[in-house]
Amino acid sequence: MAILPIVEVPDPRLRQISSPVKEVNAEVRALIKDMFETMYDAPGIGLAAIQVGVPIRVLVMDLHEPEEEGGEPVNDPRVFINPEILTHSEEEVPYLEGCLSVPDQYAEVERPDHIRARWLDEKGKQHEEQLDGLLAVCLQHEMDHLEGILFIDHLSRLKREMVLKKLAKMRKDRGERAA
Ligand code: ZN
Repeated sequence: MAILPIVEVPDPRLRQISSPVKEVNAEVRALIKDMFETMYDAPGIGLAAIQVGVPIRVLVMDLHEPEEEGGEPVNDPRVFINPEILTHSEEEVPYLEGCLSVPDQYAEVERPDHIRARWLDEKGKQHEEQLDGLLAVCLQHEMDHLEGILFIDHLSRLKREMVLKKLAKMRKDRGERAA
């Protein structure tokens, strides 16, 4: 297992379209393990393979809230390979989103509240389920990564520029090279 470097804006790899996984093999499962380790370390609740520089349609998520100090950490890892959205609700809900590739920046994005999705798990088994709330929102955010789309692309140009300006300032304050 290894913690992998996370690709951040404006890295052009984030704009790549990821390819479907042809076979869920040991190599894919090894990547999934590393993606979980990277996501938990960040920490984040979702990660797409392209965010660690691998352009294939693999997502990992864990929406479980961290336990209080002293409590046993309980994980709820979920893997989505070649995910598809079959149907979605008309109704959209705003949710404050962030992204490990746009570090420490948050903005409200509206997305359908309920979706019906199909995907493969790490054993190659197919699932089809109705997903709601945060799980639905998070899956849509992660699936956007597979198409080279970031949550900031859903914002108005003004808001997007504000987010990127704040990120550039944060990097500068931390002594990193400005984007
Ligand atoms: Zn993201």
